[in-house]
Formats: sequence, C-alpha cells, structure tokens
Amino acid sequence: MVGDRATGKAGWLPPKNRLEERTTHLASETRPLAEDEIPSSVSIDALSQDGYDDVDSRDVFDKARAFTLARQARAFGLYPFYKPLDSNEGTEVVIDGKRALMLGSNNYLGLTRHPRVIAAARDAVERYGTSLTGSRLLNGSTLLHERLEELIASFLGREDCLTFTTGYQANLGAISALVNRRAAVVIDKGDHASIYDGCSLSDGEAFRFRHNDIEHLDQILGRVTTERAALVVVDGVYSMGGDIAPLPEITAACGRHGARIMVDDAHAIGVIGEGGRGTASHFGLDAQVDLIVGTFSKSLASIGGFVAGQADVIDWIRHFARPGLFSASMAPSSVVAATTALEVLIDEPELVERLHQNGRLLRDGLAEAGFDIGESQTPVVPIVIGDERKMVGFWKELLAEGVYANAVIFPAVPRGAGILRTSAMATHTPEQLKWAVALMGELGRRYGVIA
Ligand code: PMP
Repeated sequence: MVGDRATGKAGWLPPKNRLEERTTHLASETRPLAEDEIPSSVSIDALSQDGYDDVDSRDVFDKARAFTLARQARAFGLYPFYKPLDSNEGTEVVIDGKRALMLGSNNYLGLTRHPRVIAAARDAVERYGTSLTGSRLLNGSTLLHERLEELIASFLGREDCLTFTTGYQANLGAISALVNRRAAVVIDKGDHASIYDGCSLSDGEAFRFRHNDIEHLDQILGRVTTERAALVVVDGVYSMGGDIAPLPEITAACGRHGARIMVDDAHAIGVIGEGGRGTASHFGLDAQVDLIVGTFSKSLASIGGFVAGQADVIDWIRHFARPGLFSASMAPSSVVAATTALEVLIDEPELVERLHQNGRLLRDGLAEAGFDIGESQTPVVPIVIGDERKMVGFWKELLAEGVYANAVIFPAVPRGAGILRTSAMATHTPEQLKWAVALMGELGRRYGVIA
C-alpha cells in the first residue's frame, strides 16, 4: 500500500479547481508574462561565476556585489530556484500557498509518505535521538548503520557496503580514496557534479569522454592504461536526460584495457533492473560492474548515500575516504527511513512496475504532444527547450496552472540547453499524468515551446 493522501481520494481534481484547499499563506498571484515583459538583461546564467571576477579586485566579496542576476530574476518573478514547499504530500505539494501537482521530484516510488517508512523514522527519533554528532570512524556508528549496509550489500549481491551522509559524499569519498597519484579517473561528460568534484578531490589525473561515446572512451583508456591504473565512472541513469548508460559497451571497453568500473545508480536504484536493483541488473552485468554508488535521497525516501562492492575495496574506502572520515554520520532516523524504504521495495516490487507504467505514460504523452524529450528511456523525462528565458517563462506558467517541474540551466546542462525536467512517480495516478500532459501541451503551444 502506498500512502498518498492526495491521490487516495476518489475523483481526483486538478489543483486549480480545488480553491477550498488553498492555505492562508500570503500567495503571490502570478499572471502570464508577455514576451516583452521578460527582461532581456536576465540571462539566467545565475550559477556560473564566469564574468564576475574583476582582475583588479582585492576583496573576495566584490564578485558577490557584482552578482545581481538572481535579484533581477526574483524581481521579475522569474526566479525558479529555492522554491519553498509549504507542504509535501508526495504527488501534490503546496507552493506560494497554492496546490501543485509534483512533477519534478526524485521520490520515484513515493515512499517518503509510506506509513511504514514514516512510523519507523518517528520511532527511531524517539529511541535513538536526533543526531549522532560524530563520524562513522569515532562516535557515529550504530548497529542501525551496519544493518542498512548489510541489507544493501545483499540486495545488490555485493560483499560489503559503506554508507555516507549524502550520495554526494559517497562519490567524493570513493573516487578520492581509489584514485591516488598513481591512478587516473575517466568519466562521462554527462556525469553528475559530485563525480566531477570527486575527481577534483582526488590526486590522480581526470579525463572526460563525450557522453556515451564508447570510441572516445576506448581511445582515452588506450592512452591512460599503458602507464596507470584507471577507474571509469558513469551514471547508470542520467539525472537530467533520463537515458541509460550503455553498460555492455562500457564494461567491454574497461575489460579490454584492464580498468575498473564504478556506476552511480542514484537514479537507477528502485527505477530500473530486477526489482529496482539498478543498471548492472538491468543489463545482466552484475559480475562486470566493480562498484555501485547510490543515494537514499531519491527512491529510498531518506538522505544519505553508499558505495557497494568487494569487501577489501570497501574496507579501503572505509579507512581512506575523507568525506566519510571527517563528517558526521547519517542520523538514526535517516538510516531507519532508508532501511525501511528498501524493505518496502523488496516486499512490493510491483511499485517498480507502476513507476515504469507511469514513466511510459509521461514519455509517450509528451512526445505525442510534440515535445522534444531527448533520449529519455526512464521516468525522468526532460523537455528540451534550449533558450533559457523561454524555458523559465514556460516553467512559471506551468506553476501558475498547478504543475511543478524543474527548471534546469547551466551548469547542470550545457549553456543554452535549458530543459524543463519532469519525472513520474509510482504513486501518480494516470489521471494526474494525463491532465498534466494535456496542460503542458496547451501551454507549450501557447508559448512556442512546441509548434
Ligand atoms: N549522483 C547523482 C547522479 C545524483 O543525481 C545525485 C543527486 N542529485 C547525487 C549523486 C548526490 O546524491 P545526494 O543528494 O544523496 O547527495
């Protein structure tokens, strides 16, 4: 059973038609922006530091004063980030005092609202307190952590597993512990920022191959592995494109050159593979994948991350991964929430099938409406728009009509390649998704996103 108050009711109504459910929050009413009202000075390139550093500056704060884009975008109601959710019922949220269908979450299985997960996390706070205030190495380990690690290792068919406080730290920790001065790391250009940052933290040289380009990977490995050990790192499911890494070709290239392979399955656990076991399982390549990294902040309804693999390798990471050694461990309630969510996934594998059905409905619906959905093969479905101003304008209109999706700009995607990232959940009803697709089609035509 999946607990979701909003969808549990018979006869679902679009959020806008349920005015009686509005909260008393001071809602800022939005209205459609005319094309000439969208300020040309706001390039919405707000997350790049390029152009803010004055070479003559002797004050590290100068660039902060020069950075006015976010303030401008806020003034025009076009700022899509840090949107507070007043309430979150899973498939529905309240933003600016108004209900919206959540179509931009990583809560793929809807387990953040599952009664078993909530009850277990609540009980853990009562029994173990709110924080362990220390790293795993010293006072931050509990039997709860060990139990979660054993459960993940057995779920993924691995000898051992180590948890981190976030998935971000799991990538930083695993890569920096393994890739020392005598080694190299080879990553896909489309990899997650935490993999890039793991490369920066490691002492070895980093190389990038073009997204999913196996010939390029082969060339790089051919050069690198003549003199160094190499670790290849790819995302299993790409978080923005929703495409799946071609693991058969990638593992074959690693095999040819004697490189190790680590797959970041943040968006694959609970999403693809047998019973949600991720990308290696999806391709039947469990024996060929050396390490699996994952997060609890998506399908597993909590916060935290892990790396799983051979016992001696995990033990090395356990003792040499600085992002784990020097940061406090997962709080007991987060550990228990993740453990219980994984138990629910094991007990209810039909959730994954429901997620696939909903992903298909969203993908097919958006493609049929004429949107460019890139190479999506999963419940993560980008709407490729390109022009960032047009994308943010579309995002704003959708929110005003009751659909929340993710406005994505550089550096999460290349410059000028703005996307609206949508994602399906197992707990969405077909009715909700069909309504959202129809609305997106109507607004997409009106705002020139589709012909
Ligand atoms: N890897 C990928 C592919 C991700 O998408 C994310 C989260 N966006 C992470 C790692 C980091 O996970 P966490 O949120 O647990 O830090």
